Amino acid sequence: MILETFPVGPLQCNCTILADENTREAIVIDPGDEISRIHGRLQSQGLTLKQILITHAHIDHIGGALKLKSLTGAPIFLNEDDLPLLQIMAEQAAWVGVPTPETAPPDEALTDGHLVGLANYPARVIHTPGHTQGSICLHFEPLKMVLAGDTLFAGSIGRTDLPGGNYDQILDSIQTRLLTLADDTKVVPGHGPATSIGYERKANPFLR
Ligand SMILES: [Zn+2]
Repeated sequence: MILETFPVGPLQCNCTILADENTREAIVIDPGDEISRIHGRLQSQGLTLKQILITHAHIDHIGGALKLKSLTGAPIFLNEDDLPLLQIMAEQAAWVGVPTPETAPPDEALTDGHLVGLANYPARVIHTPGHTQGSICLHFEPLKMVLAGDTLFAGSIGRTDLPGGNYDQILDSIQTRLLTLADDTKVVPGHGPATSIGYERKANPFLR
């Protein structure tokens, strides 16, 4: 397995490349920016991109998706409840103070319960609305790992003051959908360092 997580763009969104070292097939999660760097990582390792998976449609997570699709031909996956956020990409760009990236409707829906990812490294989609209405987490159960987008951070939770945000809903999503995972599940958040479900269950001040 090849697994790389590195921050991209001015808001330092964690982008993840996961690949099967035998088949050389890869997926990329949240290519928010620095697409030439991401594409370079794929190319230098001889990887074929199969899916571009987006945890939610905030600009720092989805901003580079269409560019990566045009370079690789890989389809873009997004939960449909975040389509309204795609419509206001110019407004999102203004919040951050960056040029408006080109966007397009997703090729596939990330629907709760669906399996995505690679044959040897599948991920189940967990719909976790609250940070945005279409926020999802990706649970790679055989890897004991969840990519949590901006729903759960080490010691914190996602902000809910942007359009589509809802504080009670994000708490409910975390309690009923994420904290039901095993304690030894590694959490890779959308920003900042990795953590675990068990540690956040014990120590996250928002979850008491
Ligand atoms: Zn976000």
